[in-house]
Amino acid sequence: DEFAMGSGNEHCYFGAVRNPWDQSRVPGGSSGGSAALVAARVVPYATGSDTGGSVRQPAAFCGVTGFKPSYGRISRFGMVAYASSLDQAGVIAQSAADCAEVYHHLAGFDPHDGTSLELVQAPIDLTQSLAGKTIGLPSFAFSERAEGIAPGVRASIADAVRRLEALGARCVPITLDYAEQALAAYYVIAPCEASSNLARFDGVRYGFRAADSKNLQALYENSRTEGFGAEVQKRILIGTYALSTGYFDAYYLQAQKVRRLIAQAYAKAFASVDLIATPTAPTTAYRIGGHQTEPNADVSEILADVFTVGVNLAGLPAISVPCALSEGLPVGLQLIGPRLGEQAVLSAAHQFQLASDFHRLLPASQHTSTSQSLRP
Ligand code: GLN
Repeated sequence: DEFAMGSGNEHCYFGAVRNPWDQSRVPGGSSGGSAALVAARVVPYATGSDTGGSVRQPAAFCGVTGFKPSYGRISRFGMVAYASSLDQAGVIAQSAADCAEVYHHLAGFDPHDGTSLELVQAPIDLTQSLAGKTIGLPSFAFSERAEGIAPGVRASIADAVRRLEALGARCVPITLDYAEQALAAYYVIAPCEASSNLARFDGVRYGFRAADSKNLQALYENSRTEGFGAEVQKRILIGTYALSTGYFDAYYLQAQKVRRLIAQAYAKAFASVDLIATPTAPTTAYRIGGHQTEPNADVSEILADVFTVGVNLAGLPAISVPCALSEGLPVGLQLIGPRLGEQAVLSAAHQFQLASDFHRLLPASQHTSTSQSLRP
């Protein structure tokens, strides 16, 4: 998706990206191009940026593995900033082991990124067993009252939880305060930061420049009108509005307070559990154009992010692993770790994949291609 804004790769200058599992469906977004290429076995791995789920959610829709480390673990130098306090680079690959391999080479301090962490990353040990580990199942994703989750996704995740238990994990219900407010906070904070970050695309130093503008003001207006797609313009408008005098306190400041509460709720939960599990997305891949033509459909682009955005608001590491097919489409299980808990997240995902074959399934269209993996 243009400027990493979207959940389905429909907001693209070159047209929608298609999901290799069903070409009438989206591959997820915004890193859906990366996920589709890994799913189609064109490349063994690809990078993506994850501001609110853009590595994990397309990985889930395309039946591949998507890993987003803690905020600050991988340098953002060279990435176009969307929402700088949320953006983090991640890896999409077939397996958690492959993600760990690529992550190992990407992670580390970079003096060119002021938010890059100056911490030594110990080598990831994938052999750590799940036996004796406690995994929290938050009510906003697991209770009977949790709305908007497709029945097939619910059943697939219940099955994945049984698989985690069979590996020795203890799965316990937990409540994550303010989890329901994460989407609202995210969709204020992200556009605010985007409106500020994208101000630099003025046609003078960065990016596209419109031809034949009569004066400087017209150059700005024409370049930004012609150079940004509709979704990006919408978010710049929302962000500019929410940051303006009179609305700043009501929207931006309020959203930041909610963000702090969400981060605290995760920290509190991790005092008693090692990992948290949720579906990566509430549905499988939806139809291209589906949410535009069916306003009442249970699929909406924004709701596709309900389980992923809180992780970015709190700066945590998380992974999506393929855990089932529902009506022929992949379902992703999300495992979230405490801050800097990359080791716990990657090893748990690897152990899950040693005991399951979902990450090896190929879309029907790809059955003749040879499987590429970094590790056997
Ligand atoms: N879908 C979310 C958005 O549109 C997340 C995008 C991302 O992580 N880059 O903002």
